[in-house]
Amino acid sequence: QAKRKGRNTYCFFNDEMGSAVSRRLRIENGLRYALKNNELYLCYQPQVESKTGRIKGLEALIRWKSPELGMVPAGEFIPIAEETGIIVEIGKWVLENVCKQNKIWLTNGYNFDSISINISSIQLKQADFLDTVREILDTSGVEPQKIEIEITETAFMESLEENINKLKGLKDMGVKISLDDFGTGYSSLNYLRRLPISTLKIDKSFIDNICDSSSDRDITYGIIQLANKINLNVVAEGVEGKEQVDILKNMNCDIIQGYYFSKPIGSNEVEEVLKRGYFSI
Ligand code: C2E
Ligand code: MG
Ligand code: MG
Ligand code: MG
Repeated sequence: QAKRKGRNTYCFFNDEMGSAVSRRLRIENGLRYALKNNELYLCYQPQVESKTGRIKGLEALIRWKSPELGMVPAGEFIPIAEETGIIVEIGKWVLENVCKQNKIWLTNGYNFDSISINISSIQLKQADFLDTVREILDTSGVEPQKIEIEITETAFMESLEENINKLKGLKDMGVKISLDDFGTGYSSLNYLRRLPISTLKIDKSFIDNICDSSSDRDITYGIIQLANKINLNVVAEGVEGKEQVDILKNMNCDIIQGYYFSKPIGSNEVEEVLKRGYFSI
């Protein structure tokens, strides 16, 4: 910015410092207007049943096209939105819009089991979180069963008891819950038993190496067997290749999600995909 103002402006940062700081600040600043200015939108990634190729569901993933910065990856702006607290507002927008879209698709005859929504720990922490979800479900007229909430294990390790109660509240409403990025946090098999979840999502970092690394393959198989044993659905995230699909299918991994079948796509494309209903597998 100093540059834009011309040569006579004082500059306290060198270029490198300046660019790192200003990107952070620009994201933080830009996020404040992103909602109002309609810069946020949702993409959806299909989740595919490994036995049949049927599209079981979709995961909603937020996208931000900033007029100043262009496309900013969710992995970059979500943590900043969390630090500033604006994630609460953004998260509510995501819930509302996914529920609206969900209802429209079902009303128009596009079928799926559920749409997954990522929920930040900051959002979960809000005292009125359950009321917000209930209100949005009521307003949109979506069956709670058609919604699945994704939370990461690290998200609720702090104030575990409180969070378990919130998740129970969601479950009592009929909303499904899945544990995202499983295996990357402080997984304790002890609390796994106590969580009212229906699905485990095996993190991409394990899936990446299942073809080449026998230990990652063993870990993945172990998680799948555990999930099957305790009656949880299991999703493999970030599956990109045919060989991975074959391995996961042989391991009885129920659901596969990844670029191999589809990248996250816009709602028009989703309708094409749902019309077909299946991927060849
Ligand atoms: P996540 O929930 O674990 O989502 C999976 C990420 O992996 C997504 O990145 C998805 O686009 C990407 N992915 C899926 N399949 C493949 C694959 O085969 N290869 C590769 N390389 N990547 C794949 P994305 O959309 O950039 O989101 C990153 C993270 O940002 C998400 O991780 C989630 O933690 C967060 N996020 C995204 N949308 C939301 C949202 O609406 N609310 C909240 N709170 N967080 C969100
Ligand atoms: Mg997720
Ligand atoms: Mg994940
Ligand atoms: Mg993730």
